[in-house]
Amino acid sequence: MALNIKIEKTTAPKAKPDWSKLGFGKIFTDHMFIMDYTEGQGWHDARIVPYQKIALEPSAMVFHYAQEMFEGLKAYKTADGQVQLFRPQKNIERMNNTNKRMCIPQVDPDDVLQAIKAVVDVDRDWIPEAEGTSLYIRPFIIAVDPFLGVHVAKQYMFMIILSPVGSYYPDGINPVKIFVETEYVRAVKGGTGYAKVGGNYAASLIGQEKAEKLGYAQVLWLDGIEHKYIDEVGAMNVFFVIDGEIITPSLEDGNILPGVTRASCIELLRSWGYKVTERKVSVAELYDAHAAGKLNEGFGTGTAAVISPIGELNDDGNKIILNDGKIGPISQKLYDNLTGIQWGRVADPFGWVEKV
Ligand SMILES: *Cc1c(COP(=O)(O)O)cnc(C)c1O
Repeated sequence: MALNIKIEKTTAPKAKPDWSKLGFGKIFTDHMFIMDYTEGQGWHDARIVPYQKIALEPSAMVFHYAQEMFEGLKAYKTADGQVQLFRPQKNIERMNNTNKRMCIPQVDPDDVLQAIKAVVDVDRDWIPEAEGTSLYIRPFIIAVDPFLGVHVAKQYMFMIILSPVGSYYPDGINPVKIFVETEYVRAVKGGTGYAKVGGNYAASLIGQEKAEKLGYAQVLWLDGIEHKYIDEVGAMNVFFVIDGEIITPSLEDGNILPGVTRASCIELLRSWGYKVTERKVSVAELYDAHAAGKLNEGFGTGTAAVISPIGELNDDGNKIILNDGKIGPISQKLYDNLTGIQWGRVADPFGWVEKV
C-alpha cells in the first residue's frame, strides 16, 4: 500500500538563490519531508511541510550517543526539462543496511522512494539547470527520545531535506593532492565503516584538518589494523589503475562505505571489457607500481564529485605524481559516461535512471 503523505505547502515561498553561486549544502528549498517512528506503532505521520526548524529536547538521544544515519543522492534536470534520480533503490537498500548496524528500525523501500519523489516533485522548481548543477537530496534519521541512558531509542524522526548544489568542477576537473594518513583511522573491521553515519565523519575531521593545513585536499585513509592497506579517499571510494588493471579495495572487511558510484564504475568498466579487481591494496604496492612506471592513474568516486582524479600522493613526505598531475583516460571516460547518464545526455543501458 502506498504511503499516505500529507502535503502542507508553504504560503511564503523563499526567493530563489543566485543559481551561479550555489556551492554545496548551504541553501535549502521550500519544503521538507518528515515521518515519525514510535515503538509499537512503527513509522507514522508521513508529511511534507514547509522547510523549518525542528524542536527537540536537549536530552534527545542523538545529541549524546549519535544514534543516527544519513544518505546522499541527487535529482538531475535533463535538457528537455525532465527530472531524474540515479539508482535511488541502491541508496535505500544501503539505508536499511546502515539502520541495521545502528539499531535503527528498518524503513519500507517503496515508501522511501515515494517520499523522495514526492518532496522533489513539490520543490521541482528548485532544481538548477546549468551544466553540472543538481538538487542534493539528504534523507536522515535521528533518535529523539529524551533519555540519557545508553540504549537503543524507541522514537525516531526520518527527514528529507533538499539543497540545490553547484557544479563540483566549475573550472574544469583538476586532480587533487592526497595526504596518506598513517596516524588516525576512519574505520576498523567490526566497526561502522560500511554504514553511512555521522560518527564516522566526526572521527575523520581531525585527519582532514591535518591534511588541509599541509596543503592537501583530502586524506587517503588506511586500514585500522595494520595501517598498510588503503580504504577510502576523504569521503569517497578509491580506485587505482596499475598496468592497465583497475583495482579498488574490497568491501569484505566492512570498513569501506559501499558507494553507489563505486558500484556503477565497476559495472561500467566491466561492460567496456576492463579487468576490475576488488582486493586489498597496500600503499607500498602503489609506490612500487609507480617506481616501475605502472601506476597509470587514481581517482575517488562519490555522488558529489562523481570522479575526483588523484594528482599526487604524499606518504610521510614521500611524494609521487600520478599521470603528470592530469586526469587519466579511464577517469575521464567514467566521468563523461556517468554524468552523461545522470543528466540524460547519453543512453542508460542499465536502467539506472528513475524519473520523478
Ligand atoms: C557516501 C560515501 C561515499 C560515496 O558513496 P556514493 O554512494 O557513491 O555517493 C564514499 N565514502 C563514504 C565514507 C561515504 O560516506
